[in-house]
Amino acid sequence: MKFIDAHAHLCHNAKGIDAIVDSGVFEQIWLMDLSGVGSLGGCEFATQEELLRTVRDYDGFFLAFGFLDLDHAVPGDIDRLRDLGFVGLKPYKQLKAYSDPAYFPLYQRAQELKMPILFHTGLIAQSTPSDGRYTHAFGPENMRPIHLAAIAEAFPELQIIGGHQGWPWMEEMEHNLYYYRNITGDISGYLRSVPKLNEILDRRVHDGTDRYFNEKLHFATDEFYGNEGSNARALRLAKFWESYFEFVGGLYYRWGRPEEQEKFFRGNAIELRSHFCK
Ligand SMILES: [Zn+2]
Repeated sequence: MKFIDAHAHLCHNAKGIDAIVDSGVFEQIWLMDLSGVGSLGGCEFATQEELLRTVRDYDGFFLAFGFLDLDHAVPGDIDRLRDLGFVGLKPYKQLKAYSDPAYFPLYQRAQELKMPILFHTGLIAQSTPSDGRYTHAFGPENMRPIHLAAIAEAFPELQIIGGHQGWPWMEEMEHNLYYYRNITGDISGYLRSVPKLNEILDRRVHDGTDRYFNEKLHFATDEFYGNEGSNARALRLAKFWESYFEFVGGLYYRWGRPEEQEKFFRGNAIELRSHFCK
């Protein structure tokens, strides 16, 4: 089985991308543009041009989500991102809560253009301290999972992807997945809470569909492709999750059946993609 890595990033002057594409492990990787954020965790992010060039160079292997600057963008900027080739959007470290009505015109436009938004939720890497000139927020407060619920209710056709499942606010994310048809999520960065997955993946949702949690959560690495350590780690993460699904899920749980595993590793992402890539 090949995987879809539905939440990853690209480094400036990326190395080893051919090897990742040729590894046979992934059928597609979704790259989140964070060029508006600077650097994080020792990786300087690719520029918008580099990211779009990578998407063009590998013919369908990569999809790109554009950086959505919630505090400074106007709805027309979303049209421009779409015209540049971005299929989705990715905000980060905005100054107000995700659900602040000031951002609603942007969500409205994203919904009209059928562009999904991948929202980071919960724990974040620390950035450089405030020097009084910052244009972004600090800490995870504005990116708590619960803020996504209001957006889901106000924009029921907007595809909302919660990144990382929101630690330490796990209950908020579970609530979102349980109640809202248009909220799904990726499990990148979820390793601390793996034991919880054993139980929640087999839980039924109450969102107007007939799904289980394992049909609303999907695989992702959140790796910064293009530096050697991250490239190698992404391949090991794929192995880790494959082993977990085989040796824990496959033996003890419903979600470990082969056809259910397939949803987590690629099927749920394909279903999501069918809403924004025709
Ligand atoms: Zn990320």
